[in-house]
Amino acid sequence: MSGTDVLIIGAGAAGIAAARALRAAGVSCQVLEARHRPGGRAATDTATLGAPFDLGATWLHAANRNPLRALASGAGIELFDHGTARVSACFEDGRRVGPAAMAEYDATWEGLQSRLRGVELRPGDSAADLANRAGFGAGHWDATVLHWEGPVICGAPMAEMDARDYLDTQLEPPDLLPRQGAGTLLARLCEGLPVAYGAVLRHLDWSGPRIVAEGDFGRVEAAACIVTVPTAVLAAEHIRFTPALPADTLQAIHDLPLGLLTKVGLKAAGDDRLELPAFAGIERHVSREGEAALTAVAWPFGHDHLMGFVGGPAAWALAGAGAAATVDFAFAELSRSFGARAARALRRDGALVSDWAEDRFSLGAYSHARPGRAAARGILARPLAGGRLCFAGEACHPTLAATLGGAWESGAAAARQALPLLNKSSMA
Ligand SMILES: Cc1cc2nc3c(=O)[nH]c(=O)nc-3n(C[C@H](O)[C@H](O)[C@H](O)COP(=O)(O)OP(=O)(O)OC[C@H]3O[C@@H](n4cnc5c(N)ncnc54)[C@H](O)[C@@H]3O)c2cc1C
Repeated sequence: MSGTDVLIIGAGAAGIAAARALRAAGVSCQVLEARHRPGGRAATDTATLGAPFDLGATWLHAANRNPLRALASGAGIELFDHGTARVSACFEDGRRVGPAAMAEYDATWEGLQSRLRGVELRPGDSAADLANRAGFGAGHWDATVLHWEGPVICGAPMAEMDARDYLDTQLEPPDLLPRQGAGTLLARLCEGLPVAYGAVLRHLDWSGPRIVAEGDFGRVEAAACIVTVPTAVLAAEHIRFTPALPADTLQAIHDLPLGLLTKVGLKAAGDDRLELPAFAGIERHVSREGEAALTAVAWPFGHDHLMGFVGGPAAWALAGAGAAATVDFAFAELSRSFGARAARALRRDGALVSDWAEDRFSLGAYSHARPGRAAARGILARPLAGGRLCFAGEACHPTLAATLGGAWESGAAAARQALPLLNKSSMA
C-alpha cells in the first residue's frame, strides 16, 4: 500500500457504500479495515447455532427508503417482511396477556408518536421530557412502551436522548429480515473491493496537500479520506489526528455516544417450541422506568433458536460481567414468563452473546444525540479541509441514524462530495 485517490477507514456499511460509489465513478480507493472481516457492526454467525444469527444489525428498517433493499436481491439475499408474521406474546406476572389487555397495550403503542408530536418541543428537551409532558408515566403500559423506545430500540434510556433527534430518527415499517443475515448481505456487497484487513489506523495526518494514514500496515497517502469508524472509537481517541480535529467536530463526536444493545441466541433443547409460532415476539410487562427486561424473537425462519435482546444500562452492566451473566439474565427473564419450562426448552450451553461494548472497534452499538445536541449529526458530516477529510457512518445521517441504511447513504454521500476534488465526473 502506498497511494490512492481516496482512502476509506472502515469496511462497515458506510465504507462499503463509499468504496462502491467511488469504484463506479472510476476513482481509485483503498479501504483500511481493522478487523479481519467486512461488515463492521453487521456480522452474521452461521456456525454456533447451526443457522444464520446476526450479532449486530438484524433488520432493514424503513425499507421503502432503505438503499439496501434494492441491493439485497442482486447479492442473492432473500428479504422477509417481519410485519407479515409479527405476533406478540406478552407476559405479565408469569401469564400470557389476554386480548383485552393486549388491546390496551397496542393502543398505548399506537398513541405514542402522535402524543409525543403533539407536545411543544423545548430546547434541550430529552425524549423523556417529551414523554412526561405528553402524560406518559402512570398508564399501565407506559413503562413497557418507554422501555422499548429507549433501551431496546435506541440502546439508551429516553432521558439520555435528545427529543428532536429521537423524533427525526423514527423508523417506520416495513422491517425486512435478510434470511442469510445482514452481515452476509454486507459481506457480499463488499466482494471485490480493495480492502486491507487487520489494518488498524492509528494516525491520520491531514495537515498537507495529501492525507497520510499510518498504522501497523505502514503508511498510505491519498488525495482525500473518508473516516467511518464509530463515534465511540473516535471519542476514545484511538486514532490521533494531525492537526487535532476542530473543536466543533470533536464536540459533535462526544455529543453522539453509542448506546448498547446486546443480542443473545439460545438454541432449543428439544421439540418444545413454547407454543409460539416462528417470529413471535416475546416480551413482558415492565412496571417501572429503568427495570431491566429481555425481549426476544422466537424461532426466526423456523430455526430452532430464540433471538434475545437486552439494551441500555442493563446491557452495559451485563457486558462488564461477561457472556455467562447475560445468559443467566436471559434464563431468569424467560423463567418469569414460562416458569421452569424455559430451562427445559432451551439450552444454556452453546449460547451466542454479542460483545459490542468490549469490542475495541465499536465500543457500543449505535448512536443517539445527547439532549440539546440534535445538530451534532450535521456538524460531524460537514467535510473538513476543503472536502479532503470527511466523516461518514450511521451517526452522520439525519433521519436514518443508527441503521445500516443510514450508514450506507452517508458513505455514498461522502464519496460523492469527494469527487470534485479528484476532477472526476459526478456520480448519478
Ligand atoms: C446489536 C446491534 C443491533 C443492531 N440492529 C440493527 C438493525 O436491526 N437494523 C439496522 O439497520 N441497524 C442495526 N444496528 C446498527 C447498525 O449495525 C449500524 O448502524 C451500522 O452497521 C453502522 O455502520 P457504519 O459503517 O457506520 O459503522 P461500522 O459498521 O461500525 O463500520 C466501521 C468500521 O470501522 C472499523 N474500524 C474501527 N476502528 C478502526 C481503525 N482504527 N482502523 C481501521 N478500521 C477501524 C470497524 O472495524 C468497522 O468495520 C445494530 C447494531 C447493533 C450493534
